[in-house]
Amino acid sequence: MVISENMANLVANSSAIRQLFEEGKAMAKKVGEENVYDFSLGNPSVPAPESIKTAIEDILNTMDSQFVHGYMSNAGYESVRQAVADDLNEKYGAHYGMEDIMMTVGAAGGLNCVLRALLNPGDEVICFAPFFGEYRSYTSNFYGNLVVVPADTQTFQLNLDAFKEKITEKTKALIINNPNNPSGVIYSEETLKKLETILQEAKARFGHPIYVISDEPYRELAYDGYTVPFMPALIKNCIICYSFSKSLSLPGERIGYLAVSPEIDAYDEVQPALIVANRVLGYVNAPSLFQLAVARCLKEKTDVEAYDKNRKLLYESLTQMGFECVKPQGAFYLFMKSPEADEKAFVEHAKKYHLLLVAASSFGCPGYVRIAYCVSYDMICRSLPAFRQLAQDYFGKN
Ligand code: PLP
Repeated sequence: MVISENMANLVANSSAIRQLFEEGKAMAKKVGEENVYDFSLGNPSVPAPESIKTAIEDILNTMDSQFVHGYMSNAGYESVRQAVADDLNEKYGAHYGMEDIMMTVGAAGGLNCVLRALLNPGDEVICFAPFFGEYRSYTSNFYGNLVVVPADTQTFQLNLDAFKEKITEKTKALIINNPNNPSGVIYSEETLKKLETILQEAKARFGHPIYVISDEPYRELAYDGYTVPFMPALIKNCIICYSFSKSLSLPGERIGYLAVSPEIDAYDEVQPALIVANRVLGYVNAPSLFQLAVARCLKEKTDVEAYDKNRKLLYESLTQMGFECVKPQGAFYLFMKSPEADEKAFVEHAKKYHLLLVAASSFGCPGYVRIAYCVSYDMICRSLPAFRQLAQDYFGKN
């Protein structure tokens, strides 16, 4: 084999979601696009705000093109970093300076930079199931080991007793994703405070900190009056990994940022290491035009109402049909219990009705499926008879 063993593993376990997305396209060719109900991908259905287009046009028309398209500091434009810091300070009463912000190639780029900066081969990174499956690949990029805390399937909150048992001398970091993809749950302030106590105890025991990487692409997507706690106010050693992929519907543009709390342990080591990581990983800097564009749109809000409408219709319809679902509080995913133990078999069965759902084994939580409701309301309406047929097969009613 010419490719590395590490890569061969990744290829063998290549993303089930992407595979499903491709299957959906093939299915659409056969039966027609309107007859395929693709709930596989977290691609926002709300369009990017008009102000992004206006900002881009204005930047291109009025700014110096060498500045707009040129190389810059690896951390990003200073004006953009300052704008992000000001925005966080205003929204959350934080105290970031320009130097605490690094613009990244999406949350994915940010996560890779943090892991590159922190991990020695064999170090451990903990995450809570269910979790975004790419954490496994990102950790393995730097020869770290991802240690998974099993889900608390009663509440889907952080399983803190199980977490305590997973901490070892080698634990370097913990990734928290709030609101959570795929469960849609928001981790509460109370839970996060308990987590911080455990982290401080572990630091005293092992003599080094455990950094919390707060992966927050869905921060603004919260429903029913829930709010997402601002992590650095609760967790000392917190690095925020933010993305505009969902909040401004720009997933293809690859733009996000890291916000490093000035209070974190060894800030003077970590902050420059993140910037060097951005360079040596080959990102060099986040896309220049989109840095400038998002800096002008930090006060924009996506249409949370549209996702909420989808959430309500899907949750109410599916639970009425007899499916057991976790009530989503945030993000745009519905987490549903598979009516048969093997959720992969259920996912295959659902394809019979052209319903594309994602088996949650890839999120470290077998027995469940994820339904991404960032789709058109109309598609959800059209999909309901297919779900009803599926329910009929399993529960014999409807
Ligand atoms: N983290 C989570 C939990 C996600 O769901 C996603 C994308 O779906 C990402 C990170 C990657 O986001 P980005 O497009 O900003 O790289």
